[in-house]
Amino acid sequence: MTTNKTPPFESKDDIAHYIGGALHLPSNSRFGDVFHPASGQLARRVALASKSDVNEAVASAKAAFPAWADTPPLRRARILFKYLELLNHHRDELAAIITAEHGKVFTDAQGEVTRGIEIVEFATGIPELLKGDYSEQVSTDIDNWIMRQSLGVVAGITPFNFPVMVPMWMFPVAIACGNTFILKPSPTDPSASLLMAKLLTEAGLPKGVFNVVQGDKEAVDALIENPDVKAISFVGSTPIANYIYERGAHFGKRVQALGGAKNHMVVMPDADIDKAVDALIGAAYGSAGERCMAISVAVLVGDAAEKIMPKLIERTRTLKIKNGMELDAEMGPIVSRAALDRITGYIDKGVAAGAKLLVDGRGLNVLGSENGFWLGGTLFDGVTPDMQIYLEEIFGPVLSCVRVANFADALNLVNAHEFGNGVACFTSDGNIAREFARRVQVGMVGINVPIPVPMAWHGFGGWKRSLFGDMNAYGKEGVRFYTKQKSVMQRWPESIAKGAEFVMPTSK
Ligand code: NAD
Repeated sequence: MTTNKTPPFESKDDIAHYIGGALHLPSNSRFGDVFHPASGQLARRVALASKSDVNEAVASAKAAFPAWADTPPLRRARILFKYLELLNHHRDELAAIITAEHGKVFTDAQGEVTRGIEIVEFATGIPELLKGDYSEQVSTDIDNWIMRQSLGVVAGITPFNFPVMVPMWMFPVAIACGNTFILKPSPTDPSASLLMAKLLTEAGLPKGVFNVVQGDKEAVDALIENPDVKAISFVGSTPIANYIYERGAHFGKRVQALGGAKNHMVVMPDADIDKAVDALIGAAYGSAGERCMAISVAVLVGDAAEKIMPKLIERTRTLKIKNGMELDAEMGPIVSRAALDRITGYIDKGVAAGAKLLVDGRGLNVLGSENGFWLGGTLFDGVTPDMQIYLEEIFGPVLSCVRVANFADALNLVNAHEFGNGVACFTSDGNIAREFARRVQVGMVGINVPIPVPMAWHGFGGWKRSLFGDMNAYGKEGVRFYTKQKSVMQRWPESIAKGAEFVMPTSK
């Protein structure tokens, strides 16, 4: 057994909120349970915020807003530079927390932290990013410029599957823009939120600029209904994204709500088959398929299926599935008992619908961790577009193979799906690659890249029912989301025309 030198994260303390720069645990709190998925053990309890806890956090963020919005962007950036230093120092600690509560393997958790840190790096460029447009002499003696100003208190509601990276898609950019922030993490793996908060305070962030409320639907509804929350960023499943988008709009808020996915990977007959197998195995089973950019459908074109299937079966069968703190683990456990039951239920449905179950991950036992939430890599062939396992997001280590005759059929299949988060095409034909990228109705496209998650300065977002709202997460779109445009027109007294003007001003 290869053991990691980073110790596993273990704490029994109740997980509190973080309000006004300090931990906050109300005496009358409700609690939820937090598990270690690898052992199946109950690890800690997490406080579940009431409406009044949320309102307290919003009041703290509101009080901190005027001074923070007035702080020059360069000084905000300097705090983020300090935060970067601290994050790099605590990178493995954060990764160990992720592995303990989510279950993903430690090296993957390190990768998650790194992708989060990259957004902080992007946000340190905020003085440049907030630079406005200026037009001199739009009319005689009149100048016009655009500036982007912060919104006020903004909130982020995040899913279990990236407890560090997804919050970091949001708060570094929001804070850099001069907003104050409330994070509502997933109650499934909430511990990382408190270390991120503590490090922000250590970096010199004024109290109340970043707050955490732990909780469930009650906390989310309280954030949506609070008139002092000006914008909400959400990442999670599509039904909840849809709900938050509609409710947020009802309460007059700016909302970006990123939802679920069913990401296809098209394998053309001319693709490099070994590379396509590597890509499918990593993208379908990495993080136990619990990634919004995981590949869950392989679209095998023409004779690609015959070439790829034996290798895919072999690799799926031999995945190293174990506690994520062991360095040679390729896949860890499923996040929770409920998720395990849901995914197993989908495998049952696939069998009942007539799909060919080539590798069955059900009933996996990992020696020494028998009570963990284990499921092996699962592979279906002969999946058809009417089956529930094709239509719905399973969010687990289940890869469905669909066979099609040609490129046009592959493209039509992808485009007909209700989700449009990520997609990939493996081919050695430049024209196919170009046509695919142009015509596919999906927000993030990989050509010979299985998981095309855009870098920090490009912005992340799907199409169709994978994103509700107009703007992507992070990148320049993130800066636009967290700021509003103000246009200023200026003329100085010496040049003010005499008398009132009653006609529409035009350029003179
Ligand atoms: P989820 O929708 O169950 O939960 C997301 C957040 O919403 C959590 O903070 C949760 O507490 C809250 N929530 C849950 N039920 C709620 C309700 N009824 N009312 C109000 N709030 C509620 O998602 P999850 O299981 O934590 O995460 C997995 C999902 O997230 C998958 O569907 C995955 O595709 C999606 N996801 C999408 C992206 C993306 O960028 N598009 C990224 C990561 C995850």
